[in-house]
Amino acid sequence: METAEIRRRWLQFFADRGHTVVPSASLISPDPSLLFTVAGMVPFIPYLTGREAPPYARATSVQKCVRTLDIEEVGRTTRHGTFFQMNGNFSFGDYFKEGAIAFAWELLTTPQDAGGYGFDPDTLWATVHEEDDEAFQLWQDVAGLPVERIQRRGRKDNYWHTGQPGPGGPCSEIYVDRGPAYGREGGPVADEDRYLEVWNLVFMQYELADVRSKEEFRIVGELPAKNIDTGMGLERVALLLQGVDNLYEIDEVRPVLDRAAQLAGVSYGDDEESDVRLRVVADHVRSALMLIGDGVRPGNEGAGYVLRRLVRRAVRAMRLLGVQTPVLPELLPVSVERMSRSYPELAEDLGRISAVAYAEEEAFRRTLTAGTSIFTAAADTARAAGRRTLSGEQAFQLHDTYGFPVDLTLEMAAEQGLEVDTEGFRRLMAEQRDRARADARAKKTGGVDTAVYREVSDTLGAAVDFTGYTTTADEG
Ligand code: ATP
Ligand code: MG
Ligand code: MG
Ligand code: MG
Repeated sequence: METAEIRRRWLQFFADRGHTVVPSASLISPDPSLLFTVAGMVPFIPYLTGREAPPYARATSVQKCVRTLDIEEVGRTTRHGTFFQMNGNFSFGDYFKEGAIAFAWELLTTPQDAGGYGFDPDTLWATVHEEDDEAFQLWQDVAGLPVERIQRRGRKDNYWHTGQPGPGGPCSEIYVDRGPAYGREGGPVADEDRYLEVWNLVFMQYELADVRSKEEFRIVGELPAKNIDTGMGLERVALLLQGVDNLYEIDEVRPVLDRAAQLAGVSYGDDEESDVRLRVVADHVRSALMLIGDGVRPGNEGAGYVLRRLVRRAVRAMRLLGVQTPVLPELLPVSVERMSRSYPELAEDLGRISAVAYAEEEAFRRTLTAGTSIFTAAADTARAAGRRTLSGEQAFQLHDTYGFPVDLTLEMAAEQGLEVDTEGFRRLMAEQRDRARADARAKKTGGVDTAVYREVSDTLGAAVDFTGYTTTADEG
């Protein structure tokens, strides 16, 4: 079943059951505390926290999401994209646990010719929070799930809150057993590769206080209006229903992977290292497309820096596969062709999107050419001297003179089994910043040269904090 069809069935199913269909919000988070929309619930935060009255009691959406937190997983695990789509159904003080479990079970197990996804009920497992006896019972009563396939987990895995005092509650997750070829038996608690998490049901039930961490908080009472927030990974269901191995092989992603393999003259499946690179390329090209589509422009901070890093990683992965010519003009249109089936605005905006993407690749190509030879010389010098570490000076010089981003130096060094003296690099960056300030004062320009200052702090900050953008909404 095509991804676009899985999506269509989702919206139809919940619309038929009284849910208002809400279009996806932008990837640029409507919630100011988040850089990106990391989950389907993000646009509904004001209703879920009770800050605003919801205009409907039930809603459903297919939300575009970006999770930078998952970037290192991409291409290595079978199930993480930097961009993905989260299908959600929401109840604001309307149906609760029983309704949410019943809807999920019905949609997953209704045969495909009757409009559902047609999963074999015997392959489905659920987890519940260890104290949530009610959900444990409902999975048996409503879904007929045998007790052996319902597992209890603690707060780390099966609890949701915002990180602030306020609403929170247990969650229950649904997993599909992919069979012994994918790992050990024993349910999701034993192996999350074999048992693929597809759907998270969050039961917002309690008022929490003294929220100190994901696991440390106090339950002070029941919420007057209990809410449901669920999220199903569209790509994960697609990979299962399409019978492919991983998220990068589904219909919305695979054509980019194939084109990349063709450009590189390699066959996918021959070599694990090059397969990982192809998957990274396919993922990152799609994510870059979706971010540019939502108006993000490459830059040195925030969302722009994430976009820049995705483009750079894709281009560099192609270089490592041996492709020296520009790659985005070959790959982006393939992604647009696929993604515009669900997002027709991408095809309409192709001129602008490709101009932004291709200019960024060109800029990076210039940087790479200059920086790579310098980096190689520095690495050779270090090795010749019997050192396993690139000095802070070398990393600083690469950054300062050749515009070579420090995260790239770190990545390239790691690939060669070398380390980088990041402390030394930091110190030199700080000294440069102080010098810039002093210069600015001396010149009496009326303040610091903010351009230099910003670049310095952003480069370091962004490189170090890149995976740090997260909230509890991203930790389910
Ligand atoms: P995982 O444990 O696999 O990292 P998660 O528990 O972080 O997933 P949730 O926050 O519960 O995910 O999000 C709800 C659903 O969204 C998940 O059940 C999964 O199907 C999907 N999902 C989460 N992260 C990703 C991702 N990076 N790529 C694709 N789908 C995702
Ligand atoms: Mg996760
Ligand atoms: Mg989860
Ligand atoms: Mg999980």
